[in-house]
Amino acid sequence: MHYVCKAPGCSEKAASRYGVYCHSHRSRRRRHGAINQEAITKADLSIYRNLVRGRIEKNRDKELWDKLKLMWRAVIDDAQATLEQSRKGQAMPSFKRMTALELVKLSNAVKPEEVIETVLAMYVLHDQEPRKIKSDRAFLTQMVRRVRGLTPLNAGSWTNGSTGKRKVAYKELSPRAVECMGKRLAAVFGAAGVTLARLERQDHEKRLRELTEYHQALDDLQ
Ligand SMILES: [Zn+2]
Repeated sequence: MHYVCKAPGCSEKAASRYGVYCHSHRSRRRRHGAINQEAITKADLSIYRNLVRGRIEKNRDKELWDKLKLMWRAVIDDAQATLEQSRKGQAMPSFKRMTALELVKLSNAVKPEEVIETVLAMYVLHDQEPRKIKSDRAFLTQMVRRVRGLTPLNAGSWTNGSTGKRKVAYKELSPRAVECMGKRLAAVFGAAGVTLARLERQDHEKRLRELTEYHQALDDLQ
C-alpha cells in the first residue's frame, strides 16, 4: 500500500510503495536537502559575499586569502589524485569519483577566490538568517548548489519559447556526491566561515548599540 506523504499539511500519496514522501516533497528533499528547503539564490547570497570580500580585504596583511587558497589547492590536489587512482582501475564508490571530478571541473573553471567567497558567505547567511536553512544537510546542499552555480560547465541552457527567457538547468549530482562535496568544503572552510560569521554579527550588534546610544542621547537633550 501507499502511505500518505509525511510532510506537514501534505495529503498526497507517497511516491513509492514504502516511501514516506510524495513525488514533489521527495524531489525537493533530493534537490534542496530538505522537504521544506527553498533554493538559496545568487541574489540571496550577494550581500554576504560582499561582507566576506570586505572582511578578507581588511585582513590582507594577515595573509588570510593566501592560507585559504592553499587549503583549496590541497583539496584539488587530493581530488586529482583520486581521479588518477580511478583511471588506473582502483575500485571506489562512484560518489567519491563524482565528487573528485566535480571539484576538479570547478577549479578549472572558477577562480579560488570565487569559491572561497561563496562558501564563507553561506556561513554568514546561515548565521544571520538561520530560518532560511532548514537542516545541516540542507545547508551543505545549498552550499554545493551555489558553488557549482559559479561554473558554466554544469549548465545546459535553452531559451523558453513562450517567454523568450534564457533558462539554465544544472545537471544534478547524486545526493551522496552532494553530501560528500559539501562535507569536503565544510571541513576545509568551516572554521573560517564560522569565525567570519561571528565577526559580522559582532559588528552588526555594535552598530545597533551605537544607534541606540545615539537615540538615548537625543532623548536626554533638554
Ligand atoms: Zn508531500
